[in-house]
Amino acid sequence: MSNARTGGQYSLNTTLIHGGNQIDERTGAVSTPIYQTSTYKQDGIGKNRGFEYSRTGNPTRKVLEDLIAELEGGIAGFAFASGMAAITTVLSLYRSGDRILISHNVYGGTYRVLDKVFKNFGIEYTILESEDPEYLRKAITDDVRAILLESPANPLMSVTDIRAFSEVAHEKCVKVIVDNTFMTPYLQRPLELGADIVVHSGTKYLGGHSDLIAGLAVVNDQETAERLAFLQNATGGVLQPFDSFLLIRGIKTLSVRLDRHVENAHRIARYLESNEDVSKVYYPGLETDPGYAVNSKQAKNGGAMLSFELKEGHDLKRFFESLELISLAESLGGVESLICHPSTMTHASIPESIRRAVGITDGLIRLSPGIEDVDDIISDLDRAIKGSRI
Ligand SMILES: *Cc1c(COP(=O)(O)O)cnc(C)c1O
Repeated sequence: MSNARTGGQYSLNTTLIHGGNQIDERTGAVSTPIYQTSTYKQDGIGKNRGFEYSRTGNPTRKVLEDLIAELEGGIAGFAFASGMAAITTVLSLYRSGDRILISHNVYGGTYRVLDKVFKNFGIEYTILESEDPEYLRKAITDDVRAILLESPANPLMSVTDIRAFSEVAHEKCVKVIVDNTFMTPYLQRPLELGADIVVHSGTKYLGGHSDLIAGLAVVNDQETAERLAFLQNATGGVLQPFDSFLLIRGIKTLSVRLDRHVENAHRIARYLESNEDVSKVYYPGLETDPGYAVNSKQAKNGGAMLSFELKEGHDLKRFFESLELISLAESLGGVESLICHPSTMTHASIPESIRRAVGITDGLIRLSPGIEDVDDIISDLDRAIKGSRI
């Protein structure tokens, strides 16, 4: 679905700004207009100008959908009211009796929708306890239809070899769905690595300013594109025109923002690694990280998300309360630094026994470095870490 304007002929940095044919054909407006309309006047029975009703299609949303399809290298994109709406609609491709494999530290909401919603409709799931492709091979029973994975996966930043997983999955006709929220197409393009479907929470780096909730999906085969278009319209969790505009606007600056996010994350990871109060740093951008080699093979760099653990003898409550610049908040990927406590926040919906088994300890801290001056972020962390010693 490449368009006349970019047609795949420009590099990704240019497509971020011009992809999806962002100039309004009718008026020449350089910024995509917000088509705040629910319906469209038809020229006659069965004659419309490409749009009938805004749940089915909206010109502002269409620009965004074409843009994300181009960026991910797929044939069709779909925009939803949230990342969870995107994931829910993609999972609705499956039916009672089907089984979905999920990596062991997928986003808490993804686990929750499978466990508390889809299971009620007879769609089962199995948690993959390892990133080893041979482990995957054994986990693919006859009822498995898809694998949903994240790399790096939240919150331990564990890396999965997307190409190796896709090869094993495809041997058994199993589809590979990658949640690319943490990397974005600027850093990692899962369809080029063999995946079949990409999903995003547009709320995070793509939006980039902590001011909207949105979700996206991209597919690379016609049959799935048609089924997903049907499901998007049938279930109706679509992104509104104004939010589509905000997301298009956010994506324009993705490369410059992410370059700074990643640079800051590197500096902070190195600071934490050499900090005597810190027992562990999880960041695939560090050469010492177990995921470094595979991540470097499939992504431009280690991304900007990192987690760490303070050594015993720190009061975590005091740590979080003494931060001044960095906000204690759910979410990530905004221009401002956000920090969270996965075991009581983002991953609280995962039962404690499973959390412990996969290594999400109560001392784990997840940081989404913003694009502030990195020295200010480090000073804030340093003061809070020292101040939390018991
Ligand atoms: C936030 C997030 C989601 C859910 O997206 P929403 O926009 O909050 O619904 C899904 N996957 C990952 C990796 C996320 O970080």
